[in-house]
Amino acid sequence: MSEFTMEKGADGVAIITWDIPGKSMNVLTLDGAAQLDAAIDDALADDAVKGIVITSGKDAFAGGMDLNVLAGMKEDGAQGVFDGVMSLHHMLRKIERAGMEPKTNKGGKPIAAALPGTAMGIGLELPLACHRIFVADNPKAKIGLPEIMVGIFPGSGGTTRLVRKLGVMGASQYLLQGKSVDPKKAKSAGIIDEVAADPVAAAKEWVLSEPKIVKPWDEKGYKMPGGAPYHPAGFQTFVGANAMVNGQTWGAFPAAKALLSAVYEGAMVPFDTALKIEARWFTSVILNPSSGAMIRSLFLNKEALEKGANRPDVADQTVKKVGVMGAGMMGAGIALVSAQAGIEVVLIDQKQEAADKGKAYVETYFEKGIKRGKSTPEKAKAALDRINATTDYNALSDADLIIEAVFEDVGVKAEVTKNVEAVVPEDCIFATNTSTLPITDLAKASKRPEQFIGIHFFSPVEKMALVEIIKGAETGDRAVAKSLDYVRQIRKTPIVVNDARFFYANRCIIPYLNEGARMVAEGVEPALVDNAARLLGMPVGPLQLIDETSIDLAIKIATATKQALGDKYPADNKPVDDLMMALYNDGRLGRKSNAGFYSYDEKGKRTGLWDGLDALTPTLDDQPDVTEVQHRLMFAQVLEAVRALEEGVLEDIREGDVGAILGWGFAPWSGGPFSWLDILGAEYAAERCDQLAQKFGPRFSCPDLLRDMASKGQSFYGRFGPEAAAA
Ligand code: NAD
Repeated sequence: MSEFTMEKGADGVAIITWDIPGKSMNVLTLDGAAQLDAAIDDALADDAVKGIVITSGKDAFAGGMDLNVLAGMKEDGAQGVFDGVMSLHHMLRKIERAGMEPKTNKGGKPIAAALPGTAMGIGLELPLACHRIFVADNPKAKIGLPEIMVGIFPGSGGTTRLVRKLGVMGASQYLLQGKSVDPKKAKSAGIIDEVAADPVAAAKEWVLSEPKIVKPWDEKGYKMPGGAPYHPAGFQTFVGANAMVNGQTWGAFPAAKALLSAVYEGAMVPFDTALKIEARWFTSVILNPSSGAMIRSLFLNKEALEKGANRPDVADQTVKKVGVMGAGMMGAGIALVSAQAGIEVVLIDQKQEAADKGKAYVETYFEKGIKRGKSTPEKAKAALDRINATTDYNALSDADLIIEAVFEDVGVKAEVTKNVEAVVPEDCIFATNTSTLPITDLAKASKRPEQFIGIHFFSPVEKMALVEIIKGAETGDRAVAKSLDYVRQIRKTPIVVNDARFFYANRCIIPYLNEGARMVAEGVEPALVDNAARLLGMPVGPLQLIDETSIDLAIKIATATKQALGDKYPADNKPVDDLMMALYNDGRLGRKSNAGFYSYDEKGKRTGLWDGLDALTPTLDDQPDVTEVQHRLMFAQVLEAVRALEEGVLEDIREGDVGAILGWGFAPWSGGPFSWLDILGAEYAAERCDQLAQKFGPRFSCPDLLRDMASKGQSFYGRFGPEAAAA
């Protein structure tokens, strides 16, 4: 199959077109790389060819590397990855040198990249090796190197070239944050060279103009913008960059550290040696289990879930009109994301002013977006025009989905359900956004429990990417399909779980918060608790998170759980409950009262841990080892995830992993709770459970499933992954 084709024009320009048949986006495959290499050899050797233009036959240039290439390289271990990467370096270096004399830089043929649209990952690394990059004036195109977001870094020369082109500071946001930008911004940042109406024509003209093609770093006396490490300014930059990366990642992300090492070490040596250094660090990152787990969860599985991996086989259920009940914090956010997705919204509250307030929230959101250049007045008007804020239930007469976000009260929700069902069409699906009440119980108020479901958003709705869909005992397939189609429309990532106390995400996060508070009650230094969590890559430590979600909410949840569980309420929660109550009685409700585990200034900025904590719970003289603190925090979460799987609340471990990272920020480098346990190995994990259970209590008891896997030498993805299911 030909992925790259070449046409030599009478004008002396060879046009190499990348166009993989039958795919909407180009990705670089091994075959493709070999074809490109051969085409370059041919064009460089042909005297009739004066210059080369590399372009794409699609709307975009390329989306990145075919992940099978990396998987293939990994089969042969470190040497296989290193050799594979070096062969790509050789090809790209051949493009960059283009037949020039090694010493004099004389001769050679100009090679330009003409990008019709998006160029990501290797799709940008290839153009960076060319002599000039032309991009179509297409504001929707994305230019960037997003590798870091899935636990790797640009390893086909992108790191070395971008740093040499922009300097360390200039390149850092693109390399370290994986930021992508539109062509105009890419030009002003210096990543690409020209934005053109017709990039191929502009590139052709340029290659025929006998341009200078030698790259600055291949010329004598090249100096890196901003200075290399041996330059005083460059040295400062590296000190700063190192501190910044560690400040942001807490050292928990192997790819960020490796990237910085590749940049630092590469900046001190000639270009070709720098490429070798880049390849070595890239190899170490690829062989680290974190990168495989991150790619699997944050790229492959996230996409599979978004495309409906677990959608029942039911006809299209695209939502046209959604009724949002309750225009409070959640209802306003749900109205916003729905209207943004082009769905008509009826936003209902008890009083007109409450409904209007919900709509005003949407308006303010857009005003801020317009100020920041992220939205336009037209988009804002279109979205606002779609929202009918009212108290009139009759406006729901043609709604096909209802999402209820009224007070968390069974009686209030039951009444709303009945009143809504009296006016909506027979086939309308009714969803509740409850965070704690069992769906099966709420469905009792419905005449049509098979059309009743949970659609659980996280706060703030417009920011959080995960939506948890919960099936009650009687929920039917069409309700699931409708919810999944809706989540696809609003461009979020869904997981589908069965009904159980706190569903999935909150079920796992509550033990994390409790374990953090429990340690403080035991006398562990609060700073040790929160810092241990950050060092694991958790975005927020448990104590800070309790402050954010509020201490009164923690007490409310504990009280409701006690009521529901009666005698079965775990005795070891008492120290946690007592500590929360002591804080509450002190008026410390968390961020909302500007006082909690942390102290805050009058503007609400955290100023440090509250110095009164020591009087409340004296700290121990002998503090535990940081790894023990981390294991308590991690096992508290992952054992809950395993129990959710054991009990059938989770049906797919992919959802457990993706949901954990997107829902509560579970250590993304690990790929999620099940991936983390796989990295640990079931045998060691079971042994560690036994040790923790013996020392800290039965909440760490090893679940039977994990024990069974340990005895059989199984991994979660081996036993429950899609490959295992297919076998
Ligand atoms: P909120 O108090 O901000 O808003 C509730 C709104 O519902 C209020 O505007 C109220 O006037 C309105 N309301 C009450 N009874 C009504 C009725 N009979 N008819 C129409 N409107 C009525 O609460 P919230 O934080 O938006 O939470 C709403 C729901 O979402 C709750 O079930 C909550 O558990 C759930 N939830 C909340 C969060 C969160 O972080 N706040 C997260 C996930 C789910």
